[in-house]
Amino acid sequence: MDDWLLLMRQSVTKPEELLKRFPDLDMDGLKWVTKYFPMRINPYYLSLIQSVGDPVFRQAVPDPQEMMDFTGVPDPLHEEEQSPTPGLIHRYPDRCLLWTTNICPVYCRFCTRKRFVGKTGIPRRQILAAAEYIARKPQIRDVILSGGDPLCLSDDQLEWILKQMRAIPHVEIIRIGSRVPVTLPQRVTPKLAKMLRKYHPLYVNTHFNHPQELSPQAREALELLADAGIPLGNQTVLLRGINDDPATLLELFRGLVRFRVRPYYLYQADLVEGTEHFRTEVGKGVEIMASLQGITSGLCLPKFIVDAPGGGGKIPLAPKYLQRVTENGLILRTYQGKLTFYPENKKDRPAADSRNYQMTLEFEDVDASDAF
Ligand SMILES: *Cc1c(COP(=O)(O)O)cnc(C)c1O
Ligand code: SF4
Repeated sequence: MDDWLLLMRQSVTKPEELLKRFPDLDMDGLKWVTKYFPMRINPYYLSLIQSVGDPVFRQAVPDPQEMMDFTGVPDPLHEEEQSPTPGLIHRYPDRCLLWTTNICPVYCRFCTRKRFVGKTGIPRRQILAAAEYIARKPQIRDVILSGGDPLCLSDDQLEWILKQMRAIPHVEIIRIGSRVPVTLPQRVTPKLAKMLRKYHPLYVNTHFNHPQELSPQAREALELLADAGIPLGNQTVLLRGINDDPATLLELFRGLVRFRVRPYYLYQADLVEGTEHFRTEVGKGVEIMASLQGITSGLCLPKFIVDAPGGGGKIPLAPKYLQRVTENGLILRTYQGKLTFYPENKKDRPAADSRNYQMTLEFEDVDASDAF
């Protein structure tokens, strides 16, 4: 049997098993949480834990606070409503997201699909129905394989799905969203990399949240993928008390770039039932991005994103560098906080157009009551 399958089988899924490693944990609390939200921690991810309550521990070990969340809802992004066939989410015009499995090597406590991971399975006919839908929509040029973790599938199962997608002529690129390089890097074998490279252009977006996850094994997995010509991106979730400070994120983003992974998005935590204790203030993310801008390369800096509740899509929030628009130019703020004047060249802009132009640069006052 492959090493990774063995590691999957040896995962801790029951409170009793976890208490063997951490005897001081509260058994009743663990039992309460795992009745609603499953636990799985495989021996590799468990080995990354250095002490109780550290950043890896808190991402993986159930916490009774999950049961005391009265803010979050099961499906804040209304994925189920934007789903033309089960397990396919078509929110944006030119791309869609497909659930391939409900299994993951670790059930992350902050997961946006907490309602679903480790619970309902995904039959093949569901994938076939999604493929039929995509085939009927020529505007879809980009399919994201998600879940659950698509790399929990066997090579053959995954290849079968990739074949379904590649059989559709207008699907230009395929993306795989996977936390496997973080949670079970042993899964990335030379055989897997060899199979994946047949389906180019293929991208992999992974999900590192903390420098403690940047292990030698993770590096090896990422190298195998990068050497197979797969461009690698990373999506981090901003998590309270885990990575919500500039120093931690700077170390993470620089480490990722060293491992040939481009930081893509930093997400504000979604309003998911059972995860409220991880959520930061939105301003925190903007502040952190402002403090990293300029002091490190743009290559290290992701976009900060709030996913609109109700399925409105991703909203990038950037620090405010534009201070004012004047008759002759713009007053901008540098990364060091100094003001600078940037003269405009409006020579070939007709007078009537100038007003519209100013509006694209200025904040529009919107009536906040429209939002509800
Ligand atoms: C995030 C997401 C995508 C991909 O968005 P990109 O900005 O292209 O990375 C597509 N579909 C859904 C439903 C998503 O949540
Ligand atoms: S690997 Fe991804 S889908 Fe699976 S539990 Fe973690 S965050 Fe959720």
